[in-house]
Amino acid sequence: SAGNSVRLTARGVVRRFGGITAVDGVDLAVPPGRITALIGPNGAGKSTLFDCLSGTARPEAGRVLLGGRDITRLPEHARARLGLARTFQQIAVFPTLSVAANVRVGAEQHAGGLVRGLLGLPAPGSEQAGVATDRALALLGLAAVRDLPAGDLPAGTLRLLELARALAATPKVLLLDEPTAGLDAAETARLGAVLRALAAEGMALLLVEHDTELVAELADVVYAMAAGRVLAHGPTAAVLADPRVGSAWGEA
Ligand code: ADP
Ligand code: MG
Repeated sequence: SAGNSVRLTARGVVRRFGGITAVDGVDLAVPPGRITALIGPNGAGKSTLFDCLSGTARPEAGRVLLGGRDITRLPEHARARLGLARTFQQIAVFPTLSVAANVRVGAEQHAGGLVRGLLGLPAPGSEQAGVATDRALALLGLAAVRDLPAGDLPAGTLRLLELARALAATPKVLLLDEPTAGLDAAETARLGAVLRALAAEGMALLLVEHDTELVAELADVVYAMAAGRVLAHGPTAAVLADPRVGSAWGEA
């Protein structure tokens, strides 16, 4: 619902690796109810910016705000509890656990079940976690493979599993790094439809995507990055038509 919606904002975010400034003072807004795409050539700083937003990396300067709250210094799990979820460019699942058990990890992270589990306490929201797991599996078309070991799934299905796990945490903001890598046309279409539906429900989505055709189809707003900076941002068609965006691609 709209009352549950939040905006993710980056202000002047800087992240360096030795002498390299991977992210060089980025301002970005990820509004609820929209799909925002982050594009740019290899090495532009997209993944590093993502890490700063999700809490995987800490910026050297600048701030990250979630619904107006400063989360710059919060660790990843604390951001997750506030409604921020992400997927990784490199998929990581527990290969011997079932598909459903992998998705349930996401649901229990949200319920604070990880700590309770370590303490041997029954999770208070365990019924809720089961419902969130079942819904996420159904949404991504994974119900039929729920009992298979995750390690048995082909790459495209693993990508959908990773998204199901992120959704089971019932995030308000969802960050997706190259979500269509390894997907076939049917899986890409399914993913696109799911992302559209989530945005329509008021979720704020940010995706890193190098397939500009898909970006043109899916995104409402685009940020184009090169060499750590935002070159252009705005409505998708305008940014994709911006001559500066094309020339940055030539350097890749
Ligand atoms: P993109 O995701 O747009 O391809 P990255 O954020 O991965 O770009 O990388 C941006 C720049 O930061 C590149 O020059 C890359 O080599 C460098 N970089 C990224 N991660 C690291 C790291 N862990 N250590 C050193 N340099 C890194
Ligand atoms: Mg990357």
